[in-house]
Amino acid sequence: MVLHTLPPLPYDIQALEPYISAQTLAFHHGKHHQTYVTNLNQLIEGTPFSEQSLEDIILNTAGCSETIGIFNNAAQVWNHTFFWTCMKPQGGGKPTGPILEKINQDFGSYEEFSKHFKQAAVTQFGSGWAWLVLEDNHLKITKTGNADLPMAHQQKALLTCDVWEHAYYLDYQNRRADYVETFLNYLVNWDFANLNLR
Ligand code: MN
Repeated sequence: MVLHTLPPLPYDIQALEPYISAQTLAFHHGKHHQTYVTNLNQLIEGTPFSEQSLEDIILNTAGCSETIGIFNNAAQVWNHTFFWTCMKPQGGGKPTGPILEKINQDFGSYEEFSKHFKQAAVTQFGSGWAWLVLEDNHLKITKTGNADLPMAHQQKALLTCDVWEHAYYLDYQNRRADYVETFLNYLVNWDFANLNLR
């Protein structure tokens, strides 16, 4: 059995303050992310999925109603691990490097990208994720509901923002737009997006 474990945060729990509090990260990483890991391990025990990698579990359960519980927990494990590295202290603002060139090419400017990303994040109804993805070698902004994610749609994830209420409610209450604006201006780890673009 391949036992899934909670990866540590890639920075100190206070590192994203004042934009995301240690309290939010303690719940979001220590409770929510941990629960997805625990549930996944319980759900796959004694099934063929217990011998598969996380990515294989996700791809092999996507779109199948009988394995929706396994898909949801596996995808949420992957989404959160990816999301933590999408942020860094002193992050955010306009990117540099290949991702900026590609953004200029495919969206016209960083400002246009930023406008459309915010719109996707704010208009995702209920729980979900806003994404910058690569599809057929073009950048695209998408939003997904609940645990759904780009790899289930033949897209490569470059960047994501968690817009489940648990991601922002303690710090921003119902003001999702303020949280997304702060994510873009002060938290985005563009180095990670540049790595993912390679
Ligand atoms: Mn979350």
